[in-house]
Parts: sequence; structure tokens; C-alpha cells
Amino acid sequence: MDAFEAALRETLDKTEAKGLLRTLRVVEEDKNIRVFSTNNYLGLATDEKMKEAAAQAIQLYGTGSGGSRLTTGNFTLHEQLEKRIASFKRKEDAIVFSSGYLANLGIISALMREGDAIFSDALNHASIIDGCRMSKAQTFIYQHANMQDLEEKLQRAVHSKKKLIVTDGIFSMDGTIAPLPEIVELAERYGAWVMVDDAHATGVLGKTGAGTAEHFGLSDRVQLTMGTLSKAIGAEGGYVAAAASVTNYLRNYARSFIFQTSLSPGVVAAAMKGIELIQSEPERRQTLQENATYMRSGLQQCGFTLIEGNTPIIAVIIGDAKQAVHFSRLLEEEGIFAPAIRPPTVAEGSSRIRVTVMATHTISEIKKALASFEKIRKEIGIIG
Ligand code: PMP
Repeated sequence: MDAFEAALRETLDKTEAKGLLRTLRVVEEDKNIRVFSTNNYLGLATDEKMKEAAAQAIQLYGTGSGGSRLTTGNFTLHEQLEKRIASFKRKEDAIVFSSGYLANLGIISALMREGDAIFSDALNHASIIDGCRMSKAQTFIYQHANMQDLEEKLQRAVHSKKKLIVTDGIFSMDGTIAPLPEIVELAERYGAWVMVDDAHATGVLGKTGAGTAEHFGLSDRVQLTMGTLSKAIGAEGGYVAAAASVTNYLRNYARSFIFQTSLSPGVVAAAMKGIELIQSEPERRQTLQENATYMRSGLQQCGFTLIEGNTPIIAVIIGDAKQAVHFSRLLEEEGIFAPAIRPPTVAEGSSRIRVTVMATHTISEIKKALASFEKIRKEIGIIG
């Protein structure tokens, strides 16, 4: 082992000693495991209509786009998808990126420049944090969903040129919904724009599944709605819906849009079909909500400590990182896959099992999962 490798080893050993080493696990091929942690909330990623749409596009256009949007990779399909997203999100226009992660990097770093101020919730997704780091704007991190803290930070930045408040719609590790009405009010009072990351809320919240802004009736007062095509929509890619002036700007300045090969045709066609199914089959969303309520109340009855909420993301707090990993392993032995989420993804002492339900889970599957949770809790004595 040379010095370079030894340095890597040393860091990994320290991480392992703290019980924080990450390992990869293949679950989709294991027929004995039922997954209770996917973001494929509506089950669309394996839906026959989705597969057909993707297969047809591959037959017509091939497997890869072969270039960036600004060179040879701009197909009618990409433009159709952007129009579909814009109308779904009730915005003038939309722009698609290769992932939600790259969307956040590109949007935030392009829009927010020196002399500007960003106000970011402490629990925002890593891609927002990285977008803020890449931008030259001053970033204020406000305490999670704490409107008093947000207002104090807005007051401290009154002289900034442009101001942007950015928040997850549904927080990915807690399953709580951002207090958007209060955020929008503060934004209007202090002359800021609002950007919502609706990765987990799209297809889940709102009358038509359009997300957090629709849920609160605030679509007109949120300037930027970004999201991913990879969760409830069942495909892959990221996007932002906004005024045409914003999307035109981003086509010129968002580096992760300009310098990346565009999404492959199969993925684009699947994403379009996913949005269509979200709009035309609201019963999937209804079942998802019922399953979430059933699972949540079952876990509460078993005596677990949950982060309060009513979304399909259910954070079962274990506390200690090693114990959370142990709990997750025992769940797997029971045929339930729900991984432990540990620091640095969540705060020290708040390690948890992140349970998510899907519209395609049956009540008997949920009952079985609940029985396993209860059995393990009794075995290892976690009260929560
Ligand atoms: N934002 C949030 C809130 C997310 O949870 C994720 C995915 N984990 C992303 C952005 C990134 O999206 P993608 O997976 O499409 O890169």
C-alpha cells in the first residue's frame, strides 16, 4: 500500500469505527425482500405503460442522444417534455437537466451571483447545499422551518441585490412539509424569490399531484419549482419550471445544462408518460396516502418515535448510528428493506430507519412490515 492509498484507508477506518461506513446493496433482484424505502412512490418505474413508452422511443431514436442540448442533442422529445412539465407545474416554461442533483447545481449557481443572498433551510438536500457552495452569493442557512430565524436573516441581507429563499417541499429524510405560506409571505415582504425543491412532493402532494405549491394553492407565488423525474414520475432527470425569462437565462448560464449530454430518448419518453399517468390516474396518489397513514399509525401504535407528518416518508428515530444499522439488518432478515440513515446525512443522535410506502404496497404487506418492526423492537429493546 503506498502513501496515497494508506491515507484513504485511514479515513475509511475512522469512518468505520464510528459505524458510518457506507456500503452498497443490490435489492431489486432479491425476490424474498420487499422494499420499504424507494422513492418510486407510485410504482411507475416498473409500470408496463412506462416501459412501453420508453421502448418505443428507443426503437425510434436509439439509446443515446449523442450530444448536449445546445449542439446535436436537442430532440423534439426534450421540448415536448419541457412543455409538459411547464403545464403540469402551471408555469410559462421549463428546462430539463440530466438529474435533480445537476439541476440544483446549475440553477442556483447560475442565478445567484456575487452581491446576492441565498436563504437555505438547514435540512435542504445536499444538491441545494452544493449549488449554494458553487454560487458566489452569500448563503444564510436558517434553522429548519424556523420562520423567525429566516426573517432575521432576511433583515441582515436587505442590501443584497437578488434574494432567493430555497427549500425542499417535502424534506427527504424527515418527511415533513415546508411551511410554504409563511415562506412566501416573508419573501414578498423582503423582495425575495422562492425556489421549492419538489423532488419528493411531485406526484404526491396537490390536487393534480403537481406538488407543494399546488398543495398550498401558491403556484403563482413560487417563482421556481425544481424537481426530479426519478421519484414518483418513475424515470430519470431533473427540471425547473419558471417564467420564460428564467429558463432562457438558464439555457445560457447553467453550466450543468450547457455542458452535459442531454437525456436519452427512452428516459424522456418515460418521464412524459409518468407525468401523464400522475395526471390521469389520481387513484394511485389516493392509495399512496392511505398506505402512508396506515403505516404511520401502525408504527406509532408499536411505540416507535416518528417525526410527525403525513407524507409517504416516515422517519423512525432510533438515535444511535450503530443501533440503526443493526435494526435495518434485522429488518432485512425479516424480508423488509429499509436502510438506516446516519450522520452526516442526518444530525448526530438522530439516526433512523427511513421508511417509505408505495401506492403498490398491499395492506397485507404493510401489516407484515409492521409485525417485523414490532418483533425487532421487542427483541432489541428500542423504545424510541
Ligand atoms: N432534491 C432532493 C430533495 C432529493 O431528495 C434528491 C434525490 N435524492 C435530489 C434533489 C436529486 O435528484 P436526482 O436523484 O434526480 O439527482
